[in-house]
Amino acid sequence: MGLGGVFIKNSLPDTSLEIMQEKLSILKEPFLKSFNPSVKSRKDRIERVIKLIEENSDQIHAVISKDFGSRHEQLSQLTDTLATISHAKHVLKKVSSWVKPDRRKARFPLNLLGSSAYVHNQPLGVIGIIAPWNFPISLSLGPLIEVFAAGNNAMMKLSEFVPETSKLIDELIKKYFSEAEVVVINGGVQTSTDFTKLKFDHLVYTGSTAVAKKVSASVAENLVPLTLELGGKSPVIVSSDADMKKSVGQIMTGKTVNAGQICVAPDYTFVPDSKQDEFVSLAREFVQNSFPTIKNNPDYTSIIHLNHYERLNSLISDAKEKGATVVELNPANEDFSQQEYHKIPPTLILNPSDDMEIMQEEIFGPIMPIKTYSKFEEVIQYINHQPKALALYYFGNNKNEIDTVINDTSSGQAVMNEWGFQYAYEDLPFGGVGPSGSGAYHGKEGFLSFSHNKAVLKGQKLINLWSLVGAPFTEKTDKMAKRF
Ligand code: NAD
Repeated sequence: MGLGGVFIKNSLPDTSLEIMQEKLSILKEPFLKSFNPSVKSRKDRIERVIKLIEENSDQIHAVISKDFGSRHEQLSQLTDTLATISHAKHVLKKVSSWVKPDRRKARFPLNLLGSSAYVHNQPLGVIGIIAPWNFPISLSLGPLIEVFAAGNNAMMKLSEFVPETSKLIDELIKKYFSEAEVVVINGGVQTSTDFTKLKFDHLVYTGSTAVAKKVSASVAENLVPLTLELGGKSPVIVSSDADMKKSVGQIMTGKTVNAGQICVAPDYTFVPDSKQDEFVSLAREFVQNSFPTIKNNPDYTSIIHLNHYERLNSLISDAKEKGATVVELNPANEDFSQQEYHKIPPTLILNPSDDMEIMQEEIFGPIMPIKTYSKFEEVIQYINHQPKALALYYFGNNKNEIDTVINDTSSGQAVMNEWGFQYAYEDLPFGGVGPSGSGAYHGKEGFLSFSHNKAVLKGQKLINLWSLVGAPFTEKTDKMAKRF
């Protein structure tokens, strides 16, 4: 099959703005009566998300593989279905404690005679969820879990690049939930664009920084608050004392799981000058052991669509033309010019310079630029001059360097001697900073993001405090005000 064959997806018909508005009114209706869903009902919804996944996981894995062209079902199990179930089970355990009033101290004299103050976290109402294609279950049903924990209803739009998955999730949501709880909207970019015009009470957008700008502009019309889960160029620093074999294994895993199509994938790596050759030979060994063949190997994931495939190949050509050394890690020496599954073998780019496109945009594929350094401070300076990343990875054991990475740089997450598992620590907030995102979900922060943190003050009953400080203004009221 020639290029383009598996990229022609059965795109789903668009959904009109009017239909979306009708569905939104149904979802909003319960909040005309109350913003106080019971903990039991919140847990019941989360349990139904778990049931939906558990009872249909084989079918879910199969449609994701179909949408990708080639993606191993065990990978979808690990990163989509099991990850979401584990996330949901964590939230189930915590939700009762999260919904309790968060007591705050009332200060003198407001604390006199039985007054009390607390934060009452109540549902916002209906939350819109826009999800990308790369982990279509984790990034749609994942946010839904905390949206439900916070007592909200939801409307979800999955990516047009995973139409079979979107269709199935739509059918399953209809089976396990009523349309007064959650609905799925299908369609292409026009539908996504219209989706952002709806008067949601909050919108969670997961996707690229470029599209996030359009989403932000569109929701501004209705002042819809946003959680933005974006991407960016997540750097990796390999320290001079790092265990090279373990570090390279982790870093190359990050570039080969889902063919590097992961928001938290390491984007480019800094290695000490003297360690570049060792990095290259260990990366070669890693690929040889993990993927002895690539082209028809179901363990190695396809690039999702033609534009993305061509973009990645053009990043490699541009780097080559501008003088980089390109090292293709292709153990069986396969010819990738004509292929059914549109795969790009893991590729290292040595001596990348900042004028190369590959150093200017998020790669989101199995290509790893390697920059060398002699002084650690230069690395920190370089990183601090780039847009703030979603994740910053450090491999090594130097305490001062670790402290510098944590304290002197800004990124959504800082991760030492590990790759990607920050997403699996459900108690840690997951989010970016600046151009890599704003807001977070996972853990209590997720619950708080999707709640209105309402300030409640129950005043003391016996004295009217305003009578002590209000008009008529006298010396006495002045003294009292100063005491307050
Ligand atoms: P994308 O931004 O192209 O699309 C994401 C979603 O936005 C899709 O559902 C799409 O239909 C919708 N969309 C497209 N144009 C739109 C518009 N004009 N208005 C409103 N919605 C629109 O991203 P993608 O290619 O699906 O995903 C890759 C990007 O997502 C990468 O940048 C990656 O880093 C990021 N990402 C971030 C996270 C995270 O949690 N931080 C997770 C996965 C992916």
